[in-house]
Amino acid sequence: MYSDTTTSPQDIILIKAGELVLKGLNKGTFEDILLKNLRRSLAGVGEYRFSKAQSTIYVKPVDSGFDMDEALKRVSRVFGIAAYSVARTAEKNMDDILRNTVDFMRDKLLNAKTFKVEAKRSDKSFELKSPEICAAAGRHILRQFPHLKVDVHNPDVLIVIEIRDFGAYIHSRQLDGAGGMPVGSGGHAALLISGGIDSPVAGYMMAKRGISLTGIHFVSPPYTSERAELKVISLMEQLSRYSGNMDLYLVPFTKIQMEISRLCPEDLFTIIMRRFMMRISTILAEKAGCGALITGESLGQVASQTLPAIACTDEAAGMPVLRPLIGMDKDEIIAISRKIETFEISIQPYQDCCTVFTPKHPRTRPKLEKVLEAEAKLNAEELIREAVEGVRKKSI
Ligand code: ATP
Ligand code: MG
Repeated sequence: MYSDTTTSPQDIILIKAGELVLKGLNKGTFEDILLKNLRRSLAGVGEYRFSKAQSTIYVKPVDSGFDMDEALKRVSRVFGIAAYSVARTAEKNMDDILRNTVDFMRDKLLNAKTFKVEAKRSDKSFELKSPEICAAAGRHILRQFPHLKVDVHNPDVLIVIEIRDFGAYIHSRQLDGAGGMPVGSGGHAALLISGGIDSPVAGYMMAKRGISLTGIHFVSPPYTSERAELKVISLMEQLSRYSGNMDLYLVPFTKIQMEISRLCPEDLFTIIMRRFMMRISTILAEKAGCGALITGESLGQVASQTLPAIACTDEAAGMPVLRPLIGMDKDEIIAISRKIETFEISIQPYQDCCTVFTPKHPRTRPKLEKVLEAEAKLNAEELIREAVEGVRKKSI
């Protein structure tokens, strides 16, 4: 639930930006990127205006068609926001404030046993001082809801009344924002996305640290179906609710896999295939202006995710490989994939290219010299060039 108050066209959203933790990035840039991302994520919910005061961003609807529930849902997914709340605006006189407080908070107060009022007054010319506002509002609420008691330490319902320069605002406890850094404030990286559970979660975690994403997916028709490709596209669409719009590169991989399978020892198939993925991804990522690759690998999960295998994989990558899931258990990863709603898509049964040629006994401790020896049998440059030429690009 994004709002448990009864919203009306007078309501606005108050947003508190997350703390600025990066020293190199100045506050203005951080806020500019956050506002740009917010604007993008609110596209289509109705007309509104932004304003900023005292480190709070205000989203003020300007027509009655504004979809407040949808807007709150979207705000909850924007990285760089520490907290947000819906507030009712009232005129700056106590009658209007009390009337709106009761109207706005009615459902919550009916279901509560205790409450507390807090007042903040940045307009010092207002008729009452903060303690007097609290006392007046408290009395009014106790008269209207005789079942309630005041509890200043641990109230069921908190009511905050703020008197600012341009109006009065009534809101309740703030909700937790998505946290993290605004997407784009930390640079750009390429997410190697399969149809599995892990890689979309890896993309989500790096987006949370401010990284904007480009997707790379390897396909092996006719062994992989168009539905497997559509599955990856819907995973990217779901992820884009957090990470913003992305490009997706679809790389034809059949020929490379067939050549590896024809010319290299079976137990090295997976590691050599993954090294080809790294080389091709590096080329595409450089073109797209990325500073790193991201994978969904988690230590020990499968044969290609042991330390020696990771060392062999990294040796083929021309840029840093970020593996945000490396130390996580599968159930921790699944919990995140459920939260970001990629899980149900990931568990659809369509095969991806990795599963098609998977050997029965992959080597868990591959030696780089053996891998290089095996790779020498392939015309790697030619295969890579062909794959890169065959890339299709989609905008998500
Ligand atoms: P996932 O759940 O993300 O598929 P996984 O546990 O199945 O991961 P692997 O199949 O070994 O593990 O893949 C490890 C990582 O390699 C994936 O997380 C992803 O980043 C990348 N990867 C695997 N297959 C593909 C593919 N077809 N296209 C792009 N990247 C891939
Ligand atoms: Mg997989």
